[in-house]
Amino acid sequence: MKKYDVLIIGGGPAAITIVKILGKVKKVGIIRPENYSMIYCAMPYAIEKVVALEKTFKQDGLVTESGGDLIRDKVASVDFDKKTVLTEQEQMFGYDKLVIATGSIPFLPPIEGVDYEGVYVFKWEEDLKCLNEAVRTHKHKKAVVVGAGAIGVELALALNNSGLECHLVDMVETVLPNLIDPEMAVEAEAELRNAGVKLHLGSKTEKIVGDQRAEKVILDSGEVIDLADEENPYGIVVFAVGMRPRVKIFADTPLEIGKLGIVIDDQMQTNLPDVYSVGDCAQFHSGITGELTEGKLATNAVPMARLLAKNMLGESRRYGGFFNGAATRVANLYVGGTGLSETAAKKIYDVVTCHSELTTTFPIMPEAKMVKMKLVADRKTLRVLGAQVVSANPVTDRVDIITLAIQSKLTVADLANFSYSAQPYQSFFPANNLIVACAEGILSQVNLNN
Ligand SMILES: Cc1cc2nc3c(=O)[nH]c(=O)nc-3n(C[C@H](O)[C@H](O)[C@H](O)COP(=O)(O)OP(=O)(O)OC[C@H]3O[C@@H](n4cnc5c(N)ncnc54)[C@H](O)[C@@H]3O)c2cc1C
Repeated sequence: MKKYDVLIIGGGPAAITIVKILGKVKKVGIIRPENYSMIYCAMPYAIEKVVALEKTFKQDGLVTESGGDLIRDKVASVDFDKKTVLTEQEQMFGYDKLVIATGSIPFLPPIEGVDYEGVYVFKWEEDLKCLNEAVRTHKHKKAVVVGAGAIGVELALALNNSGLECHLVDMVETVLPNLIDPEMAVEAEAELRNAGVKLHLGSKTEKIVGDQRAEKVILDSGEVIDLADEENPYGIVVFAVGMRPRVKIFADTPLEIGKLGIVIDDQMQTNLPDVYSVGDCAQFHSGITGELTEGKLATNAVPMARLLAKNMLGESRRYGGFFNGAATRVANLYVGGTGLSETAAKKIYDVVTCHSELTTTFPIMPEAKMVKMKLVADRKTLRVLGAQVVSANPVTDRVDIITLAIQSKLTVADLANFSYSAQPYQSFFPANNLIVACAEGILSQVNLNN
């Protein structure tokens, strides 16, 4: 039986991060079943051929050239007492330390028709290939995407841009509800409509009907979306309604599993000795409220994994929770958010907000475009709680500045003193800055009320 210093179950971004750090100094093994680990974030862009499909496949060299062993197999069970792992192909491996990084699986709601032909989720290589084939080979002309989060929006646009009539359905009244507040979503919705995507917001998908294939989607409003066309009796339905931690193999074991995943402490340690968990399969909390939070993102999985690997090298870093920074692109618009939206913050805090709008360059410059920000703060302490940015230019830099402010527990008064840079092609006039404008706006509201 081969024994590893560190054995990792899973081959996603969390696992790869660990092997990159430890692979040359410890004996590391990664067990994962799929041919390719995916660059998930780029998958919608492979559907619309912005990138070649094969470019979304991560190369094995990421693991092997980092010094790790890649074992293509699926773990069937773990004996935590004997410190061994048994795979489906009946290979057994021993470990000193075990890392569970089994990630997440897309959620499929328990409604009629989800098992019909033409119905997909969107995560794995197979999903990408099947959906690509459905679009290119079977030349379906109509599609429904259920879920208007970032993946749903990106996928709806990709299908739309591939020439399909695409319907985007969500039971919430606005798009990107976990990222931005309703008034910040107005332009994103207009972009989707202008691009040709048909929005069905505030509508729950009740069932899919057809002869074992997706012929029609029925919404709770009574609306019927007919997916048949002249050549195809059925169409495409993709569910992008969230992820669930992949922890089934640990049911009935002593490993503690919570509502949102494997229970870990702030050093990724589970309730069992020498067993750790990182990434989408682990349960984590908000760095702001301390409450359990969803938000299964690579930008959380990777830092958790890096922390664990560094600690395995003798450091003693601690995880401060997830701060919810995320971004997407909606046709010609870039949209991002971090921390708590106003909607989420209001459940806990007395909230004060401010919206500001400037241009991305000096307004006199030919390339000047709009950028809008909304800042959310706690009225009592003035602590920064969140922000949202919508712009014709990329927004991640601005989003990340606010994430750092939230992580550092800065107040709106700190942001009002933010020392920024300015240049005609790269910012608004030195006379103003979006973050400072929002912060000053909040300070004057609070001062007015005092
Ligand atoms: C379409 C799409 C777009 C996305 N876009 C973004 C984005 O723009 N930004 C962002 O930050 N995040 C994005 N995400 C989310 C991000 O991909 C995940 O948060 C990230 O992949 C989590 O990494 P992970 O390593 O924890 O788990 P995963 O990537 O889910 O990997 C889990 C691994 O465990 C393996 N595994 C599971 N069970 C077993 C078993 N029994 N035995 C062996 N191996 C097993 C799996 O096969 C897989 O290799 C996107 C996700 C999708 C699907």
